Amino acid sequence: MNNKRIIIAIDGHSSCGKSTFAKAIAARLGYIFIDTGAMYRAVTLYALEHGAIVAGIVDEERVEAMLADIDIDFRFNSQRGASDIYVNGDLVEGKIRTIEVSNCVSAVSSIAAVRHKLVAMQQQMGRRGGVVMDGRDIGTVVFPDAELKIYMTADAMVRAERRFKELTAKGDKVTLEEVYENVVSRDKADMSRAISPLRKADDALVLDNSNMSVEEQMAWFDAQFERVAGM
Ligand code: C5P
Repeated sequence: MNNKRIIIAIDGHSSCGKSTFAKAIAARLGYIFIDTGAMYRAVTLYALEHGAIVAGIVDEERVEAMLADIDIDFRFNSQRGASDIYVNGDLVEGKIRTIEVSNCVSAVSSIAAVRHKLVAMQQQMGRRGGVVMDGRDIGTVVFPDAELKIYMTADAMVRAERRFKELTAKGDKVTLEEVYENVVSRDKADMSRAISPLRKADDALVLDNSNMSVEEQMAWFDAQFERVAGM
């Protein structure tokens, strides 16, 4: 096997465990893991906190005007074994996964200027290879030449139940119906937006993990990685 440090692009539906999977792969290979959804969530949080989203309505022009004031960076957290996201030096990792942010993030991520800024950052972060990046447009737009592309999905109710457990374990007051509704409507918005919609890249491998444990997913990954990196 050669030691080329490749780019692994993971795209797919909301809440199907892309980040958990990507993080485990990165730890296994000694690669950097980049959660691009966290970047769209961070912009959404900033917009919520600075009056560009009121009663769930996103003021696109205000969000665009704010972009120059938003400085995003990742810092490795050895306890979590992954990077935490910071906005203008403030740790926002714990604040970006609320249902409020989830309900507005698809509208924010469909703004051209937002995508332009974040995609450029992602390309810069991955330029040397040795990265596992997860999102919606990694294999299609950010790194169309990535050596290994994976398109993840799972049954919508299975995904909602997983996310519901995560949120309630953190103490968030949500109902399963609300989470299911969010998962389904985010998929719909992400797949139907005009710019960089979520779609499977032609050369992506599909991983449906509805009935798979994390260990089974890793075994599946090992076989795919061996095939690509061993070439
Ligand atoms: O991955 P996560 O569910 O945290 O992503 C949150 C949202 O960010 C997605 O629903 C999507 O609207 C947006 N996103 C995107 N492109 C990416 C990553 C996320 O549009 N590469």
